[in-house]
Amino acid sequence: MKYAMVTGGSRGIGRAVCVKLAQMGYNVIINYVSNDAEAEKTLALVREAGTDGELLKFDVSDYDATITAIEGWQTAHKGEYIEVLVNNAGVRRDNLMLWMEREDWLKVLNTSLGAFYNVTRPVLQPMIRKKFGRIINMGSLSGLKGLPGQCNYSSAKGGLIAATKALAQEIGKKNVTVNAIAPGFINTDMVEGLDVETLKGSIPMGRFGEPEEVAALVGFLASKEAGYITGECISINGGLYS
Ligand code: NDP
Repeated sequence: MKYAMVTGGSRGIGRAVCVKLAQMGYNVIINYVSNDAEAEKTLALVREAGTDGELLKFDVSDYDATITAIEGWQTAHKGEYIEVLVNNAGVRRDNLMLWMEREDWLKVLNTSLGAFYNVTRPVLQPMIRKKFGRIINMGSLSGLKGLPGQCNYSSAKGGLIAATKALAQEIGKKNVTVNAIAPGFINTDMVEGLDVETLKGSIPMGRFGEPEEVAALVGFLASKEAGYITGECISINGGLYS
């Protein structure tokens, strides 16, 4: 049995990634924080794709909760390990820096960048021991370019992309690859409330991306064929920024 874990797997890009990894033969550990009904839907889709999965509900920004959940899984699965980790969970709390509450700053930083530490560290050692692993971090165009109203989100995603490059160099010799993806605008709950028509006008391809298009890239980076790609951040944004 091969195992993959996807944080924020209950909805949006994370759900599409869970289905993609299931199609590749992975048993998928679906993490989420609150939305039980949507997480169950993802699990059903994973099973439809021909493998199995399980729900692992915890808040990735909470260090103790994350360690308890992951170590609990590891204890229950002696001799097995998570060979693909997709750090995908994320939130937006946009505001101009002038008005940004400290709570919103910390929430976004802790859910993307703090979670990278919380989730990756306990999963890393078995990957290194087994000499095979794939870590894929969901960055953002905002983390490459910086976007107004997103000092928190741009910092979190920029930090995540930098951590990707650093970790890749630490563990390359162990045959564990670490890459990031930087999506532009993707049709999920996260883009609700944005001025879609105006934004589309600024995208060379004239549309938002679909979660399945991001999942296809995750699938490739997780595959054996992508074994010589590490420390990269790959944009998927319809030509919006390169
Ligand atoms: P959604 O809002 O559709 O889904 C977010 C997912 O993250 C949900 O599964 C949610 O769980 C989970 N989540 C949120 N907070 C936590 C937490 N503290 N612990 C565990 N899980 C959590 O987002 P998207 O699918 O759009 O985004 C996925 C990733 O892609 C994010 O990192 C986002 O920043 C990034 N991204 C998205 C873009 C877009 O245009 N959509 C563009 C660039 C990057 P629950 O259902 O329980 O709330």
